[in-house]
Amino acid sequence: MDIFHRIDEVYQRTVELQTQIDPAQPALAAALQDLHLVLEELQATHEELAVQNRRLASVQQQLQVEKQRYWDLYNWAPDGYLVTDHQGVIQFANVAIAQLLGVAQEQLSGKPLVLYLPEADRRAFYALLAQLHQTAVANVSLASPWETQLRHRQGGTIDVAIMTSIGLPMAADASTLRWLIRNITEQKRAETEIRQLAFHDALTGLPNRAYFETYLAQAIAQTQRDNTRLAIVFLDLDNFKGINDSLGHWAGDQLLQQVAQRLQNCLRQGDCLVRWGGDEFIFVIIQAMTRQSIEHLCDRILASFALAFPIHQHELHISSSLGIAVYPNHSQDAETLIRYADQALYQAKAHGRNSYCFFEEDRGAHALETFQLEHELHEARNHQEFCLYFQPQVDVVSGAVTAFEALLRWQHPHLGLLAPAAFLGILENNGQIVEIGDWVLQAGIRQATIWHQAGFENIKLAINLSARQLRSPSLVMHVQQCLETAQYDPTLLEFEITETSAITHPQETHTTLQQLAELGITISLDDFGTGYSSLTLVKQLPLQKLKIDRSFVADLSTSPCNQAIIAATMTLAQQLNLQIVVEGVETAEQVPILQQFGLREMQGDWFARPMAAAQVLDFLRQRPTPPHASPP
Ligand code: C2E
Ligand code: MG
Ligand code: MG
Repeated sequence: MDIFHRIDEVYQRTVELQTQIDPAQPALAAALQDLHLVLEELQATHEELAVQNRRLASVQQQLQVEKQRYWDLYNWAPDGYLVTDHQGVIQFANVAIAQLLGVAQEQLSGKPLVLYLPEADRRAFYALLAQLHQTAVANVSLASPWETQLRHRQGGTIDVAIMTSIGLPMAADASTLRWLIRNITEQKRAETEIRQLAFHDALTGLPNRAYFETYLAQAIAQTQRDNTRLAIVFLDLDNFKGINDSLGHWAGDQLLQQVAQRLQNCLRQGDCLVRWGGDEFIFVIIQAMTRQSIEHLCDRILASFALAFPIHQHELHISSSLGIAVYPNHSQDAETLIRYADQALYQAKAHGRNSYCFFEEDRGAHALETFQLEHELHEARNHQEFCLYFQPQVDVVSGAVTAFEALLRWQHPHLGLLAPAAFLGILENNGQIVEIGDWVLQAGIRQATIWHQAGFENIKLAINLSARQLRSPSLVMHVQQCLETAQYDPTLLEFEITETSAITHPQETHTTLQQLAELGITISLDDFGTGYSSLTLVKQLPLQKLKIDRSFVADLSTSPCNQAIIAATMTLAQQLNLQIVVEGVETAEQVPILQQFGLREMQGDWFARPMAAAQVLDFLRQRPTPPHASPP
């Protein structure tokens, strides 16, 4: 019988006894009354206890459910969870950590955690354990994230972030450690990728501008400490825009990748090469102790461009220009050095393509920056700062001059005489070339008329036409007007176009050239071989003449490849009944070699550098009389 029923029985008995008690014994009646009350209280207490008991049982049940939930939580959690003893020996491991390590969950118990860490991080692990011990003694719980790696059973490592805490309160040697282990491999990879994206150029894989700024500051500091020198070299591809416009961005991108690779091959391991943007690269030569060593490297870079770049089925020829500024000679400040190298690059362009220039102090005062040039170019025409230079084409058999090519020059008020490479791109971009081109034609015709009137009647005038001019709808009308006004014989006029400009808008170009040819003007394909030497183009356009680019002449005697190209071009010209001229003849030795290929019309510094208009007549008078006809 349970206590509750016994109390009830006793209580009933006291109720019965109360009826039987002698009223003459009041003390006994009072005692019985007290007992009666105590029993009532006991009953109430017991009932309350029973309620509390039921409540406790329910809480216990709830706790059991919670415990299962927590167990599931850490056993099945996506993060690894370990419990170890104070020495790092595993007591419990969840599913995630077992999978992370490639080990069965039950096999992890009893293994030291350190086994799964790379050798290099084991010292740090023991240091962490020691730190945790100290903390345990001080009775403080610790949670410290630690980035390390875990070794997978089948090889390879996993990047992890580990949070550790200590089970309290216990004696230091009896405490348990809890380890929460997060796989951060993906996060690390993303971080590396973001760093790569932020500091590298996606196309070439080279470091970018953002990286360069940090790099240069450090390189300058190091150079200062070592008391050495450092050179910053700005490099820009010549005529890259033409390739991009005509062959498309895909070809342009391929070219930039190959250029990056070639530059990298020319540089030493420690020299930093960066893609600055577009077709501009910058590199730093550390420990550039002498001017000769810098020049030597720049020569090597220019020479590396001599070989064609194979892009799809095309063999592209492109050159580059370089500008150099030296620390500490030119400036001690990174930003200024970059600016100076950029200015030197423009100076290199101004001296003609395919060259390099060191920054020159006295020119630095007049910053040769594009925006400034662009501004000045607008004024140049009004201030009559443009002029024409003329370079002869010579028939080497008779020695006579057959034509003069008009070459634009800009007499800059501070920078001196500038060649087209320094400003033509700007004129072309902003469309000013159309207006300047008109002026070139008029001024050229004016000069040619002077030669004709002086007795050199058959000398032709060659004028370069840019892509933008070719696309101008008013070109033909303007040329016609110009010829009529000057009463100039159209058969004594040649227009030189480049392959790139011809291929940009083939239909429009073809119509325009056809109309010009019908006027009697000779159409000549300039820089032949530097674009993509499209035979279709040569066949389709109304051409009378090809000008072999000077890049094929430079190393003619040593390059069987260039010789083969010239021979093939000659055959092509004969088949298509085209006249042929070769440009860039610089030495006496080149002349007979070229003659062996059947070439007789030549242009280049060996015969005469481009000369001012005033010198042309003197030059002509010193030469044999021009022949009346000069077939190739
Ligand atoms: P281009 O039509 O191929 O002109 C020949 C270039 O080669 C000229 O450069 C000339 O000075 C240079 N040259 C000639 N012989 C030699 C030589 O033996 N060795 C070397 N290294 N170079 C030689 P320039 O005057 O700097 O002209 C560069 C280009 O600018 C021209 O190339 C032409 O495409 C363009 N250009 C010049 N004047 C005009 C113009 O009035 N209008 C347009 N649209 N373009 C022009
Ligand atoms: Mg030309
Ligand atoms: Mg040319």
